[in-house]
Amino acid sequence: MGTIPEKDLAKCTGCGDCVVLCPTNAVELVKGKAIIVRPQDCNYCTDCEALCPSDAIKCFFEIILVKSHS
Ligand code: SF4
Ligand code: SF4
Repeated sequence: MGTIPEKDLAKCTGCGDCVVLCPTNAVELVKGKAIIVRPQDCNYCTDCEALCPSDAIKCFFEIILVKSHS
């Protein structure tokens, strides 16, 4: 269990910026929306939150608990 950035998929335009710039490749586009497909690889750098032009990502590291989907 860990914490990862939360994405507001309603705001995500599928621009792909976060997919390109995520240093650990934790994010991929799935059906036109950015999904953190490898949350275990996220290093909480917060780059995706800073770069998202649609303000679709919020890195609520301290309050969001994400259950493993494995
Ligand atoms: S940078 Fe934002 S709008 Fe672009 S794909 Fe990622 S979450 Fe979606
Ligand atoms: S916080 Fe950093 S490592 Fe995690 S998904 Fe965003 S860009 Fe990738």
